[in-house]
Amino acid sequence: MSDPWQECMDHCIAVTRKAGEMIREALKKDISVMQKSSPVDLVTETDQKVEALIISSIREKYPGHSFIGEESVATGSSSILTENPTWIIDPIDGTTNFVHRFPFVSVSIGFTVNKEIEFGVVYSCVEDKMYTARRGKGAFCNGEPIKVSGQEDITKSVVLTEIGFKENRDHFKTMMSNIQNILTIPVHGIRCPGSAAVNMCLVACGSADAYYHIGIHCWDMAAGAAIVTEAGGVIMDTTGGPFDLMSRRLITASSRPIAERIARQIQQFPCGRDDEESS
Ligand SMILES: [Mg+2]
Repeated sequence: MSDPWQECMDHCIAVTRKAGEMIREALKKDISVMQKSSPVDLVTETDQKVEALIISSIREKYPGHSFIGEESVATGSSSILTENPTWIIDPIDGTTNFVHRFPFVSVSIGFTVNKEIEFGVVYSCVEDKMYTARRGKGAFCNGEPIKVSGQEDITKSVVLTEIGFKENRDHFKTMMSNIQNILTIPVHGIRCPGSAAVNMCLVACGSADAYYHIGIHCWDMAAGAAIVTEAGGVIMDTTGGPFDLMSRRLITASSRPIAERIARQIQQFPCGRDDEESS
C-alpha cells in the first residue's frame, strides 16, 4: 500500500525550503523587533509572514487539515491537539538568534494524525541543512541518513539545554541549579545553541549526546521528536516518564542511560501545558 502521508511530507519539505529562503533574505535587511509575553520573548514581522506563507500554502492543498502555529497561538488560536491531521509549525525557531544573526535559525514543521507524529521537517536555513524523518523510515540530513552518537556514558557527553530570563525567582533558581547539577556530574560540556529544533537535530546526528528543556513548546519539538526518534535516539519527559508532546518538557538523548541520568539529576518547575487554555 502506498504511504498516505508521503505526499504531505513532500509538500512540507518544499514549503519549508521556501520559508527558509524567506528567512535568509530577511537576514540581509533591517530586522524590527516586537515583544510578546515579556521583554525577552521576541517576535518579528518575518515570524508572522513566514507562518502565514506556510499555513496558506498547506491549507490550499489540504483544506480539511488542522494547524497549531506558534504565531497563530500567540494571537489567540487554539493549541489543542485533536485526532485530525495536524500541522504543528514554528516558522522561526530561534527568533532571538534571528534578531542577532546568530546562525542557528530554523523552520520546524511536525505532522500528527490521531495525535501520533507521522513526520518532521526541520530546516536550519543559515547552515542550509534540511533534516527530515518519516515514521518508520529513518532520519536524514540533506538526504543522507543520520544517527545518534550511541554514547551511554554521561561523563563523556555534551549536553544541550536553553537558559533564559524567568520572572519567577524560584523557577530561575531551579533552572540554574539544574545546570550546576549536570555540569558537576561531570559532563564534557553544556551548550545552548538557541533553537530547540536544531538542538534535537544535533542530538539526532550525533553532534551532541543529549538535550533537556523545561518550558519548551509543542511547535519547538514536534518535528524534532520524529527526527531524533528515527535517528535511534531516546525521548522522554523531564520527570523520566513517557514523552508528551503537549507537556512542555523534554529530554532527548543518544541512549536511555543518559536520558534517565538527566531525569534523575534535574528538578522540575511548573510551566503549564500547551493544551491548557491559560498556560
Ligand atoms: Mg518561533
